[in-house]
Amino acid sequence: MKTERCQIVIAGAGPVGTVMATLLAKANIDVILLESGENCAMDLRASTFHPPTLEMLEEIGITSTLLEKGLKAPVYHWRDRQSGEVVEFDLSELGDVTRHPYRIQCEQYHLSRALADGLEKIAKAEIRFNRKLLSFKQDESGVSVFAEGLHSIEHIRCDWLIGADGANSLVRKWLGIEFDGFTYPEKFLCLTTETELADHLPNLALVNYVSDPQEWLVLLRVPSLWRVLVPADDGMSDDELRSDAIKTGIFDRLIGNGDAVKTRHRTLYRVHQRVAKSFAEGRVALIGDAAHLNNPLGGFGMNSGIHDAFELFAALEPIINGRSNSADIGLFDRRRRKVTHDFTQAQTIQNMEYMKVGNGAAHKKRRNDMEAIRDNDDRRRAYLMRQAMFDSLAQAKAIN
Ligand SMILES: Cc1cc2nc3c(=O)[nH]c(=O)nc-3n(C[C@H](O)[C@H](O)[C@H](O)COP(=O)(O)OP(=O)(O)OC[C@H]3O[C@@H](n4cnc5c(N)ncnc54)[C@H](O)[C@@H]3O)c2cc1C
Repeated sequence: MKTERCQIVIAGAGPVGTVMATLLAKANIDVILLESGENCAMDLRASTFHPPTLEMLEEIGITSTLLEKGLKAPVYHWRDRQSGEVVEFDLSELGDVTRHPYRIQCEQYHLSRALADGLEKIAKAEIRFNRKLLSFKQDESGVSVFAEGLHSIEHIRCDWLIGADGANSLVRKWLGIEFDGFTYPEKFLCLTTETELADHLPNLALVNYVSDPQEWLVLLRVPSLWRVLVPADDGMSDDELRSDAIKTGIFDRLIGNGDAVKTRHRTLYRVHQRVAKSFAEGRVALIGDAAHLNNPLGGFGMNSGIHDAFELFAALEPIINGRSNSADIGLFDRRRRKVTHDFTQAQTIQNMEYMKVGNGAAHKKRRNDMEAIRDNDDRRRAYLMRQAMFDSLAQAKAIN
């Protein structure tokens, strides 16, 4: 078997793997990006890019594409479905801390596909579709990676391997790293429609978290569609959950006349809260969903994966370019694992509790908490800094 040589192999050309590959290739580092699919997935999952992520992505010249393709959403709402109460937050208030005081609402595939196209043009990078990483072996001087091509097994010897291969990461499984946490009992159903929800629900923001003990909702606008995310009854089969009857019921309850609403997608997701016990072992590192999973409330999964990529790049680049004597990337692991636990996991679990809270005392407390935050300038600013992910990055920087 022929052995190829390169400095870094990355498994997975999702948003996180493509960002990592672009950072490395632009720093003149040889990188081979292996993707098991025939192209970057046309994924319906992430649609929110937070302000610090937009700033980071400027470094690889991709933010302007997201601004072109996406919608600027400075305002987002926490809504109570039963009472109709709305608590509004406006990221424009952070105009003094960021060049991008808004979320960009843009499907994640625009990022990975544009970066994959860019990688094809950089001499130091190679992106290989239809290549599944099968296994690897590491020793003190490097990693031997085996990938399945269309007609043969490929062997690549590299200095470092990065697992950006998503929730079911083979890289994480081969390392034998535990993935502790839990899975929500209910599935999440994501429906998309061209029906203009704002015509039926006055004062709708582009991003809305609607709490309800019976049926909470996330209503998100992307340029061509509304996305409606609801919890799905775990007792039903996937076919039943994607049926016309379920779709019609959801839109009947939301805007009336659900029969008339046409959907473009009806996608089911299992949702988890899990964190790998370690994000690095020897010459192998994990980033993105391979390292951590969380519910989508707040839009933190992909964003935090991109933050992992920037932190890992900061650790690896001096080692690879010969400016560091040590091959230790422990700081990357400590920083990113700590903020994953303290921020991403904690905040998304709390956001989910807010969505489900029942009537009575719990509901009143939640509403009072939110209103108190909104009405106090210092608390509101602190809340916006946290939800926009600035705090998590500052916390990471403070760890040595
Ligand atoms: C409904 C929903 C809404 C969401 N909304 C948001 C949001 O608004 N904002 C946000 O930040 N996050 C959001 N997320 C989370 C976000 O989608 C993920 O965190 C993000 O896709 C992770 O990116 P990734 O590149 O790590 O993994 P993935 O996107 O899963 O990409 C992994 C890639 O690896 C490839 N692969 C897998 N195994 C192998 C192998 N052995 N060899 C080669 N390639 C392999 C796969 O084909 C895939 O292309 C949402 C999630 C859901 C379910």
